Amino acid sequence: MSDTPIFRFAPTPNGPLHLGHARSAILNFEAARATGGRFLLRIEDIDATRCRPEYEAAIFDDLAWLGLDWEQPVRRQSEHMADYAAALARLDQMGLVYPSFESRAEIRRAVEARPGWPRDPDGAPLFPFTRGAMSEAIRERRRAAGEPYALRLDMRAALDQAGQPLSWHEEGEGIIPADPAAWGDVVIARKEVPTSYHLAVVVDDALQGITHVVRGTDLRPSTSVHRLMQHLLGLPAPVYRHHTLVLDEQGRKLSKSLGAPSIAGLRVQGMAPEEVKRLAMNGI
Ligand code: GLU
Repeated sequence: MSDTPIFRFAPTPNGPLHLGHARSAILNFEAARATGGRFLLRIEDIDATRCRPEYEAAIFDDLAWLGLDWEQPVRRQSEHMADYAAALARLDQMGLVYPSFESRAEIRRAVEARPGWPRDPDGAPLFPFTRGAMSEAIRERRRAAGEPYALRLDMRAALDQAGQPLSWHEEGEGIIPADPAAWGDVVIARKEVPTSYHLAVVVDDALQGITHVVRGTDLRPSTSVHRLMQHLLGLPAPVYRHHTLVLDEQGRKLSKSLGAPSIAGLRVQGMAPEEVKRLAMNGI
């Protein structure tokens, strides 16, 4: 890993940036400055149905207006699908991946039939079927027939292969035990997108030599899955720092659907960049 700290801000261009994004971007930028490190911007646009070029352009505008600058070229995930396919092929060769044909409705019905079924840290029910519930022969036949499928990580087999408890270094706290099993058989390539957030993020952090991941605390539980993938793929583990979220006046996480003001909206209202930065860092 590089001696020079390398930080990144990795937004998804599926809507306007709000103060929570600004907090992440500023913390990364300032940490890079303070440590003589590098600051990269990565556009996480694997989901072509939700990401739009105009949101990407707005990200560049908003960050520049806040006074941040970043290295070129910007890595755009949609241009690197071959890298994610190679990582997926490796997990497949290790026997850790299987196709899952179940629809959302089938999954919902199975979960409804099992009261108290566990949920993942994001609140979604764990995948209620097991790899063994469908024979390999049937999976292959359905795959050959062209039925759409997602690829899932066989969590039990993955943990067996990892063969040791995993953890990460959380800056300011120390060693945090990882709990990937809390996520069950996570999707690592979607029906419509041949990768997933969990897969692309670890591949890119490694390819870009990221030494420090600074992001919102809402992503902290995902770090467990990321550590497992890094371990299985032989990728280095960055140091992590999960920062508090910017909350609205009701104490809720900012979101577009709850009417969080966008950076661009605040700018149009006449707010100065320093004031927006202050709100992003200190809260509303
Ligand atoms: N693209 C993710 C998001 O916008 C952030 C990923 C990360 O920082 O790991 O929520």
